[in-house]
Amino acid sequence: GRPAAASYLEGLNPEQRDAVETLDGPLLVLAGAGTGKTRVLTTRISHILNLGKARPGEILAVTFTNKAAREMKGRIGSMIGGAVEGMPWLGTFHAIGVKILRRHAEAVDLKPSFTVLDVDDQIRLLKQLLAAENIDEKRWPARMLAGLIDSWKNRGITPKRVPEGESFAFGNGKGQALYAAYQKRLKELNVVDFGDLLMENLRLFQEQPDVLAQYQQRFRYMLVDEYQDTNVAQYLWLRLLAQENPNICCVGDDDQSIYGWRGAEVDNILRFEQDFPGAKVIRLERNYRSTGHILGAASGLIAHNEGRLGKTLHTEDQSGDKVALQGCWDDEEEARVIGEDIEQLQRKGHALNEIAILVRASFQMRAFEERFLNLGLPYRVIGGPRFYERQEIRDAIAYLAVTLNPSNDIKFERIVNVPRRGLGDSSVKAVHQLARARGVPLTQAARMIVETEELTARARKSLAGLIGSFDRWRGMIDSMKHTDLAELILDESGYTAMWQNEKSPQAHTRLDNLKELIRFMDEFDTLAGFMEHVTLVMDREAEETEDRVNLMTLHSAKGLEFDSVFLPGWEEGLCPHQRSLDESGRSGLEEERRLGHVGLTRARVRAKITFAQNRRTHGTWQSAIPSRFIDELPVDHVDVVEDTGYGGYGASRFDTVETVFASGFYETPGWQRAQRNRPDTGSPQRRREPLTIEGTLVAASTAEGSGFSTGTRVFHQKFGYGRIAVVDGNKLTVDFEKAGRKKVVDSFVERS
Ligand code: ATP
Ligand code: MG
Repeated sequence: GRPAAASYLEGLNPEQRDAVETLDGPLLVLAGAGTGKTRVLTTRISHILNLGKARPGEILAVTFTNKAAREMKGRIGSMIGGAVEGMPWLGTFHAIGVKILRRHAEAVDLKPSFTVLDVDDQIRLLKQLLAAENIDEKRWPARMLAGLIDSWKNRGITPKRVPEGESFAFGNGKGQALYAAYQKRLKELNVVDFGDLLMENLRLFQEQPDVLAQYQQRFRYMLVDEYQDTNVAQYLWLRLLAQENPNICCVGDDDQSIYGWRGAEVDNILRFEQDFPGAKVIRLERNYRSTGHILGAASGLIAHNEGRLGKTLHTEDQSGDKVALQGCWDDEEEARVIGEDIEQLQRKGHALNEIAILVRASFQMRAFEERFLNLGLPYRVIGGPRFYERQEIRDAIAYLAVTLNPSNDIKFERIVNVPRRGLGDSSVKAVHQLARARGVPLTQAARMIVETEELTARARKSLAGLIGSFDRWRGMIDSMKHTDLAELILDESGYTAMWQNEKSPQAHTRLDNLKELIRFMDEFDTLAGFMEHVTLVMDREAEETEDRVNLMTLHSAKGLEFDSVFLPGWEEGLCPHQRSLDESGRSGLEEERRLGHVGLTRARVRAKITFAQNRRTHGTWQSAIPSRFIDELPVDHVDVVEDTGYGGYGASRFDTVETVFASGFYETPGWQRAQRNRPDTGSPQRRREPLTIEGTLVAASTAEGSGFSTGTRVFHQKFGYGRIAVVDGNKLTVDFEKAGRKKVVDSFVERS
């Protein structure tokens, strides 16, 4: 019989309902933020299932993130009552691509057990290729080649099809050959990179028409969210699949296209009507998400872009506050102001989950994270690690920790070969083995082992150099300003250079984060004081609670919505980002403006934009100019929050807040300032660990003898049999029968 009257259709407006019920034939929903595009997609799937037009396994639905896919599944379940069994083809392009590829791996010269390379492995592989080809990596960095290959893959270009001129973008015309060699190597290793997930799908579909036909028949309905951010490869993939059965529905908004830098093409929207003749286009104009003022501000901003398809948006919700705008003295005050606003919302009973801070660049998060930890406000970082969990921050902290305390094994191990200094796994293993055998810290074992010939000459030299550096840095702790010392350590260890040599946008971000770390250290008097703080902060991050403030970049906020949204850092050079200002042409700037627009349109009820007058972006103070986007906001929708003269007032309020919220974790209110004046009590590790540095050294090297004596016959894993000639503490000089006279460590030999 006919399914029961579908209640899920009831709340929809006529255009939305049209979009849900037009099931057959190509359909494009082109509509602004918050108009219900995602809701239409979800309802459409429910409708298809409810009418029995297709089974869950016959619907292909593409979302932009895995999280969005999970949420969509949940909603569909609640719309049609009961959990949806399956929906195996609801996911991101990558997730769906890898699933198809695994089923047909052999057809594209892979084994079904293939793995997906992460970016680090990809770079390592490219470096090997460059070395084999004698290409100077200083001039032509592997990252650059990775970017180029990625851009080809995003456009669906195989090695054979690389346009002639583009090969010259790398290694004096070697781009294409290297791309081909790289693909060959991937196959030998039975791995794929991210770009391959779709590229290999395309190849599969082109080379095996019967496989393509199988999927064309399987997918009776196809749906794509965030269509404006698909790249050419994704577009080609969709078009191939929809050839038989063009029941394809794409929803998108050209004003929210923010991944142009990663190869997304808004033109895919324009091409849709050409490629799918007879496509129906539905526009949704009512925004259900935001209040009138928020929508008015967002629309006024985006109106300054030239390249737009254009659309009208209105909301019935004319209540609510204007968008707040507040200037702050610096980034710290910005974090303080926003922190206080959030506490006020919290006191009024608002959930933290409904509050988001959307930053343009990830380094901005540090000030907020610090402030929240200080206030005891729970937060989560979406789409990336929290500041102190970032690789570069952990590495830098590891260097500082070992400088302070050479017996911190975990930290030493982390950076012993970062940057690469020719210490292979076997060398590190040998140091470990010795440390375990003698019960001493790794640095101490390293100190012993380099005086012997256990390691290769190269490894020995490198390890001795590192230990020597740590000794030297440790010697400077009292005489040098701690921030200068930290900078010196990162420079001399080659750590900074490692990221400088990687000419990628991520490397820029990492260098910015390192500068931010050192800038923040300046607030403490000593290295030990700073490290104590770091330990406390890192410990606290393990705590889990449900209700948390959301902290993320504008890029990862796509498709989400929150009651309250804070948009900090609207300054020239940050938002819009400097890179877009350096570019010629308007396209970079327009993408930045779309980012601002995405940010504002995430808010349901409250939005606040802030900017700092002073920001230390690159180590030095710079006075910042408010973003041009602020000038572009229509005045009717904006409320300027008066400058409260934060200097004195802020300071006294700061103490009050501290008193109320100091959780007992810190001894005194205003702990940061108190800490600056406190005498150095040593790092927490030092206090916690029973073994002091000096104690360990004494116990390790002199208190125990080796227990070996001259003339004893011994066996050594690497050098074979020999007889001990000299005993010097734990070091033995042995005359080996084959290897000759060598200095070795006693724990590596056995009596024979
Ligand atoms: P974005 O472009 O930001 O992804 P969107 O167009 O996908 O936005 P949705 O997220 O689907 O918009 O919807 C925005 C909000 O409006 C959601 O909270 C949704 O539940 C609500 N909404 C959409 N349509 C209706 C409706 N007809 N009645 C009530 N609420 C609606
Ligand atoms: Mg959406």
